[in-house]
Amino acid sequence: MIIEKAGRITEGLHALADIDLPAWLVEAETPALFDAGITFMGPSYLEDIRQILGDVNRLRWVFITHAHFDHSGTAPYLKRRIPGLKVAASRLASEIFKKPNAVNLIQSLSRDYEEQHKALFGSEDIRFDSLEVDRILEDGETVDLGGGWTFRVIATPGHTRDGVSFYFPGLKALICGEAAGVPDRNFRIHPEFLASYRDYVSSLEKLAALDVEIIMLSHHYVLTGADARSYLEKSLESTFAFSDRIRRYLAEADGNRESVVKRILKEDYQDTGAIQQAERPYLINLSAKVKAVAENK
Ligand SMILES: [Zn+2]
Repeated sequence: MIIEKAGRITEGLHALADIDLPAWLVEAETPALFDAGITFMGPSYLEDIRQILGDVNRLRWVFITHAHFDHSGTAPYLKRRIPGLKVAASRLASEIFKKPNAVNLIQSLSRDYEEQHKALFGSEDIRFDSLEVDRILEDGETVDLGGGWTFRVIATPGHTRDGVSFYFPGLKALICGEAAGVPDRNFRIHPEFLASYRDYVSSLEKLAALDVEIIMLSHHYVLTGADARSYLEKSLESTFAFSDRIRRYLAEADGNRESVVKRILKEDYQDTGAIQQAERPYLINLSAKVKAVAENK
């Protein structure tokens, strides 16, 4: 099944507020949030957490897949509103959050969305001012949240260098950020190897070896059953096909990356209208993907 709406996914597992942005609540003995969307969603998440847990102060952890603005955005706000809430991320992510440039970039990318969604937060202080990571997640470690909710941390670099995925063997459920690409409105999967094509492929191969029944994708969709079981292989095939296409276009354009970016922008983004991402971040990411293939990273 392909789930396209926020709400309960299965007993104890919820997609909060807006399924286009990742924020997954697990009602374990120690309740935890996985990823934290974009700044403007803070009050909406808080309201959903209140509805589900009764008391927002029961939320103890936010686990973050990677240090992008649309995965970590509300974490500072939630920390301000929930004393005792702790944040966990990879070592690299924790270092990124310490860099003023990274915080500036998160603020700048969040601003467009904040402008468009002022009604959702009103006078609340939703700013991403800084984010201290309280716990470093190591590749392969198992985290026990109590009540049968344990998950494994899997390093999945390639989309970014700092990326990790979370796998719950009990539920066969996977939270993977963009490590497994993003399907568009026609369910064509767009690979997201911004940092390294080679790392992205080996990370995705690791994920494809898992036994999965639920995949909480970075944006727009949750997959269950047969749709989940077949997705990761399909995502790998899309990755190979996309890099082959970039190589072919580069050869046809005598290595001119800019013209390859323009050609793919037209074919995949402008002509189809199926990609839900805004054009500016799409272009930034597309240039990074062409670069990763061109430089064989
Ligand atoms: Zn990302």
